[in-house]
Amino acid sequence: MRVDILTIFPEMFTGFLNTSIIKRAREQGRLEVNLVNIRAYARNKHRNVDDYPFGGGPGMVMQAEPLFLAVEDLLPAGETARTPVILMSPQGEVFNQEMAEELAREEHLVLICGHYEGVDERVRLALVTREISIGDYVLTGGELPAMVIIDAVTRLLPGVLGAPEGAREDSFAMGLLEYPQYTRPRSFRGLEVPEVLLSGNHEQIRRWRRQQALERTWRRRPDLLARVELSPEDRRFLEEINRREGEKTP
Ligand code: SAM
Repeated sequence: MRVDILTIFPEMFTGFLNTSIIKRAREQGRLEVNLVNIRAYARNKHRNVDDYPFGGGPGMVMQAEPLFLAVEDLLPAGETARTPVILMSPQGEVFNQEMAEELAREEHLVLICGHYEGVDERVRLALVTREISIGDYVLTGGELPAMVIIDAVTRLLPGVLGAPEGAREDSFAMGLLEYPQYTRPRSFRGLEVPEVLLSGNHEQIRRWRRQQALERTWRRRPDLLARVELSPEDRRFLEEINRREGEKTP
């Protein structure tokens, strides 16, 4: 997958792109990241890419022209329709695992990182195909959101994770939060690893993990349960928790 990132702070990506799984994915040619400095497309002496907002008000607004020129340079006419051009924006659709999976199926993404008070509205109207938010809070720029998206998408690309079956069981991948994980030692400060995980009985372990995932999701994110496919066994288990918890309330 190729990702073009339009930013006024390309240096923010140095550590991110040169560490751990993202670094390896780049070295293996599974991820190609092209950092584009938006200032290179400013047509003024000082390479300014922002200006005062029409109508007054605080702060500066990123101008449309450098962003249009950069995207037009990156995407030949035929590619514009095929390649998602995504604006990082607190006003966009809120990013989730499903979107990460959808984006991981693309060959090429263009991510635009805003700054200041945001970007000229004409960028939204006529340049981008999608706006993505990473949550209901406002950051100073779109670089961290772009890194979040690239990270979540890259680990889904074929061959990137050493143990891809791990990603299939991650929280959200199956619609549920993941079951609890333990590693050595068996006993730590009086806290024991659940006996079933030491049993070697794969069927019991599978059932225990499924039930833990169901119970965890029921307690922490019951909203997710409405969208997940549940087996009759799952339903019986959830009814049992409901009954158990109902008995506890006075
Ligand atoms: N004035 C804008 C508003 O109220 O919608 C916020 C601008 S914010 C200070 C500057 C830039 O940071 C945005 O253009 C966007 O690129 C990025 N940004 C901030 N919060 C974000 C979020 N939650 N998700 C994605 N991008 C965000």
